[in-house]
Amino acid sequence: MTKIMKFFKDALTLPKGMAVPFKYMFQKTATVQYPEERKNITERFRGLLINDVPKCIVCELCAKACPVQCIKIQKIRGDDKKFIAHQFDIDITTCLFCGLCTEACPTRSLSMEGGYEGSVYQKEELVAHFVVQQSETEFMVYSKEEGWIPYIRAKELASIEEEKKKAAAPPKPAASTPNPSSQTEIPKEK
Ligand code: SF4
Ligand code: SF4
Repeated sequence: MTKIMKFFKDALTLPKGMAVPFKYMFQKTATVQYPEERKNITERFRGLLINDVPKCIVCELCAKACPVQCIKIQKIRGDDKKFIAHQFDIDITTCLFCGLCTEACPTRSLSMEGGYEGSVYQKEELVAHFVVQQSETEFMVYSKEEGWIPYIRAKELASIEEEKKKAAAPPKPAASTPNPSSQTEIPKEK
């Protein structure tokens, strides 16, 4: 008797097991036929790092915040005495994608919006350059809006950004002038 019971019990495991894939057979497929199809990435997705150089003030806070020191920055003084990036490289081979550098960036020029397609054939290509020297005096820098641009254009964009910030800043409260009549009189000594 127990053998018959066991037989039926075991036989039931087959339809039970098949019920699981059967349930998903009629549901909408979640598979994406990459690379023909691509999923939309969410707004806060941590992708590859990009630096919008016109916004970068070369403060090096990102490099200091990086736990593996994979950000290399070199700066020089421009004609207007402000620092400009001479080198801004991120070594993706050692990057942890922790996002600490983006959190440290005061101007939000550094972000993780570079997507997820970073495969290359050579390991050396995994160093992302955001400033490229073309000649002794000419640099090309990366801008999120305009792509690779000469440094002069980056300066223009930086000053536009500065103007926008000034315009958006709340007006400073006017310094109150003391009213002489409201001042407390110092009692004269008798
Ligand atoms: S994401 Fe993390 S590891 Fe990568 S560069 Fe930024 S701080 Fe460094
Ligand atoms: S923290 Fe931001 S502004 Fe400062 S050097 Fe890094 S990317 Fe540039």
